[in-house]
Amino acid sequence: MKITAIDVHAVHLPYAGGVYRLSGGREYHGFDATIIRMETDTGLEGWGESTPFGASYIAAHAQGVHAALDELAPTILGMDPRLTDRVNDRMDMVMKGQNAAKTALDVALWDITGKAHDLPVVDLLGGRVDGPIPVISSIGGDTPEAMRQSVAAHRKQGFRGHSIKIGASETEGGPRLDAERIKACLADQVDGEWFLADANGGLTVEHALRMLALLPSDLDFVLEAPCATWAETMTLRQKTSRPILLDELVENDGDIIHAIRHDICDGVGIKISKQGGLTASRRQRDICRAAGLVMSIQDTVGSEIAFSAILHMAQSVPRHLLRCALDTRAMVNLKTAAFDAPIIDGGVSAPQTSGLGITPDRAVLGSPVATYR
Ligand SMILES: [Mg+2]
Repeated sequence: MKITAIDVHAVHLPYAGGVYRLSGGREYHGFDATIIRMETDTGLEGWGESTPFGASYIAAHAQGVHAALDELAPTILGMDPRLTDRVNDRMDMVMKGQNAAKTALDVALWDITGKAHDLPVVDLLGGRVDGPIPVISSIGGDTPEAMRQSVAAHRKQGFRGHSIKIGASETEGGPRLDAERIKACLADQVDGEWFLADANGGLTVEHALRMLALLPSDLDFVLEAPCATWAETMTLRQKTSRPILLDELVENDGDIIHAIRHDICDGVGIKISKQGGLTASRRQRDICRAAGLVMSIQDTVGSEIAFSAILHMAQSVPRHLLRCALDTRAMVNLKTAAFDAPIIDGGVSAPQTSGLGITPDRAVLGSPVATYR
């Protein structure tokens, strides 16, 4: 089997909640998705998506994805898409980094390989772990009471994992406001509920330590991505017993090995396009597994196609190491594909159909902005 053509589609995904706010005054209204259709000489085709979270979340942005694809796509034409590691080796040989661009192509390889073997992608990744995957809510930074109500509303919908955004500037209320937010969100915690306080790298060590000092030690939550740098995170790690999950700092195998060698975290956020696709995420899942790190399987953002890749990966993670998956579909209000994976009582299961199990909506995708053949 050979890759014979690659189409690139560009779609704007409006953010479903109006304005998404992160620490440091970052605001997002929508996201530019890049969607790939990969064609083969057998008639099988595969799809992949890469949607960076604007340009200020990690070092990736949509225009960069298009520029990188322009160099990458021609170099894998003629290769066998089922040889996923070899195609990735080729991409890594011709271009360093640029995980977001490589992801769109890599996910399409897995979609085709699943269809070729008549297996869902989860089974190619090692096999399905039975039972629905818990999805996590995303509680944007707000007043403590508004955040408490948002947690309650998500709890009613069945969510048992909650990601609380923190990182208030000193003028907004600083560590004291962040501590109040965490206390408010955990005030009605029920059995089986799990909380992340996610700063998206927005805290100084001083801010984090002041915030933690204001919180009772028996509150049950994990601190996610507290600081922007490895050095700050290592300093904080030495000064707190609070579990730490890393996200933005971990973009490749070497980052995870660094975190393990220096015992910097207890868990990792695996985001498919941040890590470089399903091929890289599978390898990093196994490194995490060997080290006993818990995993939260996500993507930066995205539509149905991105979520299908998340879900197949999450469904392959041993359950004691899987904290949650992120349903990116809930973050945007444009549907790019049919994907039969409804959330029932806060849980969702990867479909049994072959490949990713998605049917893209060609009308929504429009004409390709680039084609390589
Ligand atoms: Mg995060």
